[in-house]
This record gives sequence, structure tokens and C-alpha cells, in this order.
Amino acid sequence: MPANIPITRRGLLGSATAAAMGGLLLGRPPTASAAPARAVPRRYTRAEWSARPPKAAATVLNRAPDHIVVHHTASANATDLSLEHAFTLSRAIQNFHMDTNGWEDAGQQLTISRGGHLMEGRNRSLAAIGAGDLVVGAQTLGHNDHTIGIENEGTYMTEEPTAALWDALVATCAWLCGVHGLDPHAAIVGHRDYNTTACPGDALYALLPRLRNEVAGDLGMRRRVREAPPPEPSGLPGPRFTFDHGPAA
Ligand SMILES: [Zn+2]
Repeated sequence: MPANIPITRRGLLGSATAAAMGGLLLGRPPTASAAPARAVPRRYTRAEWSARPPKAAATVLNRAPDHIVVHHTASANATDLSLEHAFTLSRAIQNFHMDTNGWEDAGQQLTISRGGHLMEGRNRSLAAIGAGDLVVGAQTLGHNDHTIGIENEGTYMTEEPTAALWDALVATCAWLCGVHGLDPHAAIVGHRDYNTTACPGDALYALLPRLRNEVAGDLGMRRRVREAPPPEPSGLPGPRFTFDHGPAA
């Protein structure tokens, strides 16, 4: 079992509840209110991570996204959890998307590092979210006009995310669902749900039911506790090189 996140039957009930096993043994049913909702994470702007200017201003649609697409970055599972590392990651992804892929800017709207640092990706993304709108990204082929993408640092074919990344991902999805009026049980998907790719990796994809439940809990909604299937190799195409997480644009 990975050390970072306890994935067990208890894990579905929330880490705070899992820690209070005594409560379970005494028969006290856990509730969504057992764990306090996570605060909206600090959002680091493009200026803060020293983004390059985009080749063109992003297109903003005057409507909310209807799905949140969870990705992995298909880069190393770094052990450096610092903010400076997170900023370096954002610059590297932007450089790859602009210089290698030839895109106008970073493709994804949001990025979360393994240290749990949340950063703006494509230009105008934070302003658009604040306005209830959608920046058209380059993150999920054929679905960029109705989805918002979160790139999570690392490669999660077999390994699971760090606790810091996980908590930030839950809080970020809760923030987005709240702003856009989305039901986490319906809105949160993985890249592989739209395109032929292993992204966000077999291990992280297997955690999406838990993600939806924890986001629902943070929003004060009902959880749909159900056992996630054990992670098994999907056979879907995995990364061929750094930052290759599947068809995006
Ligand atoms: Zn992806």
C-alpha cells in the first residue's frame, strides 16, 4: 500500500474518519461533517510563476464548463514539494506546449504540483473562473469547448498522488463545482473518459470515485460511498515522453 494516501474501505469515508477508527469500532456512523471542508487553495497567478506572454489571448466562452477533466502531467514523481519547484514545473509545461506542440500558450487551465501548489495555466483562466466563464484550453481533444482541465504533477499509472496534491485537488474541484454549480458525481472525469489515453494513470483514475465523494463532502452534499475498483493495468496507452498525457488539441 502506498504511504502517501491510505486507500482502504475507511479511506472512502475521509481521512479524519479513518484516523478515528475507534469511532467505527464503537459503531458511530461517520458522516460527511466528520471532516471540515478544505479551504480553497491559494491560487498562484501566471505572473507569480513568471509565465511567458501567450502568442495570442485565450478565447473565453460566456458559459461555465460542464465537466472537470483530471489529468496527470506525465512527468516525474518529484520529491521536491517546494513552491519554487511548482513554478519551475509550470514554466516547463508552458515551454513544452508552446515550443514543442506549437500551441499559443499552456494548454491546461490549472496545474497542481506534488507539493499541493495550485497554479493558473492558460492565460485568462483565473479571471474566467471568477466570472463563471470558460477559457478554451488545449487539454482534451474534441472537448475543449465545454471542459476545464487540471494537470496534476506526476505519473500515476501505479503510484498514487501525494497527500498534499490530493488535498489540493479535492479543494480545487470543490471550488470549481461551487463556482460553476456542478455536481461532483457527474462533473469530475478523467482524460481517458474522452480520449484514448491512460491519463490520468490507472492509479489516479481508480481514485476518481473517492475524489467525487470527498468533493461532495466538502460541498456539504451527499456522498455516494462505493468501493473503487482495485487499480489494474488498463492497457490504455501511457506516456511516451515527458508531458505526453494523450490527445489534447
Ligand atoms: Zn490528460
